Amino acid sequence: MNIPDFHITEHSDLAEPYKAFVRQMSDWYNGGELPELAGQDLRFTLELQRQKMQSLGLDMQCNLKNEGSNQINVGGVSFSDRIFTNSIIGGNMNLTRSIGSNQGSIYKNTTDIGLSTVIQSLKTDAQPNASMALCCPHCGAPSTLGELESGCKYCGTHFLMSELYPKVMNFFVSENEDKAKKDAKSKRELKIFIIASAIPMIIIGMIFGLFAGQNQSPTMNIVSEIFGGLLCGGMIGIMLFVFKKMFEVFALMGKDLRGGGKTASTLVYANKIKKNDPEFSSEYFRDKIMSLFRMAVYSKDAAELACCKCQCPENAADIIEAQLYNFSITDCKIKDMVCDVDVILYLDCLHYNNGKIKSKTDKFKMRVRKHIKNETDLSFSFAAVSCPSCGASFDARNVKACPYCNNVYLHEEHDWVITDIR
Ligand SMILES: [Zn+2]
Ligand SMILES: [Zn+2]
Repeated sequence: MNIPDFHITEHSDLAEPYKAFVRQMSDWYNGGELPELAGQDLRFTLELQRQKMQSLGLDMQCNLKNEGSNQINVGGVSFSDRIFTNSIIGGNMNLTRSIGSNQGSIYKNTTDIGLSTVIQSLKTDAQPNASMALCCPHCGAPSTLGELESGCKYCGTHFLMSELYPKVMNFFVSENEDKAKKDAKSKRELKIFIIASAIPMIIIGMIFGLFAGQNQSPTMNIVSEIFGGLLCGGMIGIMLFVFKKMFEVFALMGKDLRGGGKTASTLVYANKIKKNDPEFSSEYFRDKIMSLFRMAVYSKDAAELACCKCQCPENAADIIEAQLYNFSITDCKIKDMVCDVDVILYLDCLHYNNGKIKSKTDKFKMRVRKHIKNETDLSFSFAAVSCPSCGASFDARNVKACPYCNNVYLHEEHDWVITDIR
């Protein structure tokens, strides 16, 4: 079928959707509506997160402010399948996150962040199939592209292609280091180290002075003891400070390198999957595993989700906000086109425990599975699938069989599912 209102979205046009999405996210985290531009899986994770917050009696507000320069990075990174292109668009912002409970405010943090989004748009010459499963952006009901254009079966809304795409598939937040703050902290630390080392030195000098033979006037003695103490203590203080900084640099290197040491294995295994599924990319995979992880930790019972075949581990159950820092693929086994992949997720998370919010850097191992006989489909979501046996579209997030023909729907045949989290 040819789509009459076919709207071509150029890569450079994505700055506008990005800005609109930032506004919509800001509204959402201040109690507003689900971001209209968010894709189906992202909507689902946001809903699950809000439900989790509400069940814990928490309210998270995020305020995003544009930081000075209004620059938006229309990144060169993009990946595509037959029909869609996913582009990475980012910008710098100032984020204030505050979390309140019935005890009042329990967390507040302001940081400069980089906010990257993965925006999906139609390829210039793509002709998506009218039977492509898609959720109604208005009421959320599972539908198809063709149906949405002629009017949603449930709410009756008509959509133009330009209203359905582009869509934001995922977003990533990374903290930017604040240099001025860091420098001020270093100066303060150096002073403390010098003073803390000089004082004991002066005292030691005085004690020695008392017992040693005194051939100068007592005032001269005290002056030389203080002077000697300052000099000696100051030097020790600076030395201690330098040592501390050295260790900090090592610790920071460790932090920044999280997952970096495994880049080679990640590339090798990603390539192995790509050999069987030419449209697979590590960017696509990163988006997928992050969505899956968020769904598993935000949901009340992970095992009830169609995309998750295991329980959420106890140390992840108190996560209320998860951001991916890096990931690595540590193993990949393909047998009879069933692909099992082991990944490590390096994350920055907020945990809620004993009435307190803690910000932590986390590491979780996850195993995911997919039958790779079907090629990667960037628009796929369990929220709207079409039954392989009767063709009906339905929401497969919480069901194991097609509600129309009762045919068992095997989720891992269509998309990645989690089989283990540790
Ligand atoms: Zn609808
Ligand atoms: Zn069916």
